[in-house]
Amino acid sequence: MLRPVTRVPLRQALSDLPPYVPGARVPVGAAAYKLSSNENPYPPLPSVILAISDAAEDVNRYPDMYATELTGAIAASLRVAPENIVAGCGSVAVLGHVLTAVCEPGDEVVVPWRSFEAYPIAITLAGGVGVHVPVRDDGRLDLEAMAAAITPRTKAVLVCTPNNPTGPAVHADELATFLAAVRKDVLVVLDEAYVEFVRDADAPDGLAVFADHPNVVLLRTFSKAFGLAGLRVGYAVARPRLAAGIRAASTPFGVSHVGQLAALASLRATAELMTRVDAIVVERSRLLAGLRKQGWTVPDSQANFVWLPLADQSSAFAERSGRAGVLVRPFQGDGVRVSVGEPEATDLLLEITSEWLAR
Ligand SMILES: *Cc1c(COP(=O)(O)O)cnc(C)c1O
Repeated sequence: MLRPVTRVPLRQALSDLPPYVPGARVPVGAAAYKLSSNENPYPPLPSVILAISDAAEDVNRYPDMYATELTGAIAASLRVAPENIVAGCGSVAVLGHVLTAVCEPGDEVVVPWRSFEAYPIAITLAGGVGVHVPVRDDGRLDLEAMAAAITPRTKAVLVCTPNNPTGPAVHADELATFLAAVRKDVLVVLDEAYVEFVRDADAPDGLAVFADHPNVVLLRTFSKAFGLAGLRVGYAVARPRLAAGIRAASTPFGVSHVGQLAALASLRATAELMTRVDAIVVERSRLLAGLRKQGWTVPDSQANFVWLPLADQSSAFAERSGRAGVLVRPFQGDGVRVSVGEPEATDLLLEITSEWLAR
């Protein structure tokens, strides 16, 4: 006789999901630099802390479900309409809602790889099938190969620029060629999580690309340049019809009241926050130059991290770096991502990389 099934089955897709590995955390009291999660090394501005403490007084109430004031302020800052903006609980959640809004079961989503580790998870949970296109040896996306990977089943393409974890941004001309080759019913998501750190003159203007292409959606976040990773606020910029679909797929009340007011205060302090971004960019140049002087071959990072292509030695390097006081993020087999942090952290990291080469 057949035994009765006594367990609730989980979705088959879950067993195939790669785990999201968070960057290593600093143990309490340890004198370590946390360069493992691309966080902003600067604490919130006093004006932002004040907004957060003010907002705390109202947390017995649900937040404004559509984050109306924040959405309006973001729209004004980007010179688009509020109907174009969908805020969510971090741009990772927004990406999930974007994919849920467009994917039928089995639809293909073309992604560069290696890229952001949240992508395969978001695609699978949305019922899609990820089609991975290798990133080039110089860390740049291979947009030609990505265009060639599009089939009649393709529903979306994710373009991570700058690419996490390798660092380069796509160039405007190659993106234009790519978009001209993509069917107009294929959604192209430009994930611009690090856009504020881009200094490459050949990089595209995402908003201009959005204005020219109805099938392009931008993803942006307050987690990196604006320093609010802990409050989870990100957003999509999309045509009103797509934006309405993304909103329909979103978790209700996904952005907390504290997050909304902190993001608003951060937008008001944009000029001050962008001087911090400038300082991180200076530090990035110093780190890249130091590494190259030591003999490392590193991609041209346009984000707040650099990539050490250590292949099979990635975990060993991360372990050694951690013991020396700098936490980094290894992707064993590919490389190690190191966020740009305090100048002291850069100095210590450069000692570690120099010792690694000399060992
Ligand atoms: C950090 C990051 C994000 C932003 O994530 P949030 O959920 O907004 O914190 C999005 N995309 C990429 C590629 C990232 O590296």
